[in-house]
Amino acid sequence: MQHHILQCSTDETLLAELVAIPSVNPREQAVAAETPLAEFVADYCRRLGMTARLDEVADGRCNVVATMPGRRTDEWLLLETHLDTVETEGMALDPFTAHVRDGRLYGRGACDAKGPLAAFLSALARIAASGRPPERTVVLAGVIDEEHRYRGVTHLLGPDGGTDTTGDGSDRFAARCAGAVVGEPTSLALVVAHKGVMRCRIVATGPGGHSSLPEGRVNPVETAAEVVRHLRAEVATRLARQQRPLVGAPTLVTTQISGGSGPNVLPERCEITIDRRTVGGEEPMQVWRELKDELESHFPGLVEVAPPHVVDHALPAQNEGTGAAFSAEVGRALTAHGLDPTGIGVGHGTDASKICRAGIPSVVFGPGSMTEAHTPREFIELSQLATATDVLVTLLTTGSGRTPGGHGD
Ligand SMILES: [Zn+2]
Repeated sequence: MQHHILQCSTDETLLAELVAIPSVNPREQAVAAETPLAEFVADYCRRLGMTARLDEVADGRCNVVATMPGRRTDEWLLLETHLDTVETEGMALDPFTAHVRDGRLYGRGACDAKGPLAAFLSALARIAASGRPPERTVVLAGVIDEEHRYRGVTHLLGPDGGTDTTGDGSDRFAARCAGAVVGEPTSLALVVAHKGVMRCRIVATGPGGHSSLPEGRVNPVETAAEVVRHLRAEVATRLARQQRPLVGAPTLVTTQISGGSGPNVLPERCEITIDRRTVGGEEPMQVWRELKDELESHFPGLVEVAPPHVVDHALPAQNEGTGAAFSAEVGRALTAHGLDPTGIGVGHGTDASKICRAGIPSVVFGPGSMTEAHTPREFIELSQLATATDVLVTLLTTGSGRTPGGHGD
């Protein structure tokens, strides 16, 4: 396979290099897992003449933020993706050696999200080589921890996020940013909406006792079974009727259950975990409160709904205002390369919802398929990598054609 890499295009060689730098999300461990990759990206950008800085988020784990000045420096465009990958257990091939076969490059992160990162970097390299600046100032951000707790993007959007490229306050960043392309595998589709999520535990309790004396005693395992049935028959059924454009209906499923302490002991506790996918306009904490009220009034004194341990907002479909203008602009770049510019919705979350909530119109776009992400045989179609790079070059070098409200020339 080694000799094969040598014959690859620049994009492929770059992606192989990115895959070769492990950046597995360490979850709660204090390991600077993404920092070597952040350093590689910073060096790469500096060689293109860009300014680049590493920005520590936690435990030595660094975001990288790099800037390429545009012809117009008053308006910026953010290219954001994540540096971390999921774990490598069960992978068929060496996860950190890129294997190229039949037009596909295999390796951990090949599509999620080092493929999109390679497309961003390749596009910037092509623009730098052309000697002509991009239309707007481009800010490239590679962030940590997308696969776990979104600490990288949260930090990026905060006061010390490294996006204060002019030294006049990062709060101006959102105001100046015409839009963000969030690099994730979308099979080159334009994703303009996605769901959010709220996960929480529901705990049923009882007095316990000897299993030969169950009469008159609350059995938490039986309570939990009734809760699961109620969630499916009542709550999920009700949600299924609330169809929304692009993303479909919100969902609720029970994903985990555990309870009881022994085969001849009346259980004192049984716990279930639910995964509730939200849609644009739903506030995850409000969704949690409503679920808590419903279950605690339906099963009085029997269950407690714990505060959510995961909350992530949806990316609402941006059908109006500047969001629509930016989506349309990305759509035109897709059309220029023969791709479908229609905005679609997906069920899983991305950093785009956080960036959008900071006031920056955001779309998700990238090479590779989400169905390959997180799998033991993760790969990317190299033709998609090349096309994504072409689309990005067009987007970054073409005038925005901004309509009223903008300062187009
Ligand atoms: Zn991803």
